[in-house]
Amino acid sequence: MNRMNQPLITKETIASMEDMSSFTYALIFDDLLIVAQKETNCFVLKSSDGLIVIDAIWPDQKAFDAIIHAIKEVGWEPESVQKLILTHGHVDHTGCGKWFVEKYGVTTYLSQIDDMYWRDHPVKPDRPNTWKDYEIDVYLNHGDTITLGDKTIYVYSTPGHTPGGLSFIFPVMEEGTPHMAALWGGTTPPRTIPAVNQYLASLEYFMSVAQFHNVDVALSNHTAVDNGLERIAYSIKRMSYMPNIYIIGKKGFQNYCQVFRTMSNQILEK
Ligand SMILES: [Zn+2]
Repeated sequence: MNRMNQPLITKETIASMEDMSSFTYALIFDDLLIVAQKETNCFVLKSSDGLIVIDAIWPDQKAFDAIIHAIKEVGWEPESVQKLILTHGHVDHTGCGKWFVEKYGVTTYLSQIDDMYWRDHPVKPDRPNTWKDYEIDVYLNHGDTITLGDKTIYVYSTPGHTPGGLSFIFPVMEEGTPHMAALWGGTTPPRTIPAVNQYLASLEYFMSVAQFHNVDVALSNHTAVDNGLERIAYSIKRMSYMPNIYIIGKKGFQNYCQVFRTMSNQILEK
């Protein structure tokens, strides 16, 4: 069987990032909820002391409503959202954070470098639907940890996709058994050769850190890369005797990262 070794990114893929006509979600671990529109997704991690939202999709009320709806549907309380942690400063990730701040008074986290994107133009002059009008409370640095209740998120600086991009490693529970999950923060490689080389160096580093933390769960914030929508659909209908599709093993995680190398090499070979 011929399997694709990288996702097909088309004009439609890009357009889908701004399509807010449909959302889906699934509780993929005891304590981890994924919420997605057609191309971009975020996560909600449950701790003993409240919820942490990781990324915030597009700045659209519909995205916020979809995340809140999903939180309620799995029996969690939106009022308990304490933190919003952003992988990087692109608009499809900083997204609907404004409402989390206004409604729930969450503490917001991003790298200082990526917050610069918004410093001069909180609203992009050429694209008014593209904005971030909330402050970042905590600037994250390489090696930081974010703790809420029983959960600690390890923060790694992985520049490349953006100059201040971050990737996260954190524990999740599957039927009471702990696993370690990794979220590679900036999905696609950048366009210039020096930036791609930086992206690849970040990737190699993150893979070694993942190995150290015994990461066996691969998460992405873009569904095109990992059959995200299909994995969510599977998770919604999964029977108790069927495996959790996100648990791919330590070696599986290293293999999974090959997609980022493949996409990078394609740019380098051009
Ligand atoms: Zn991005």
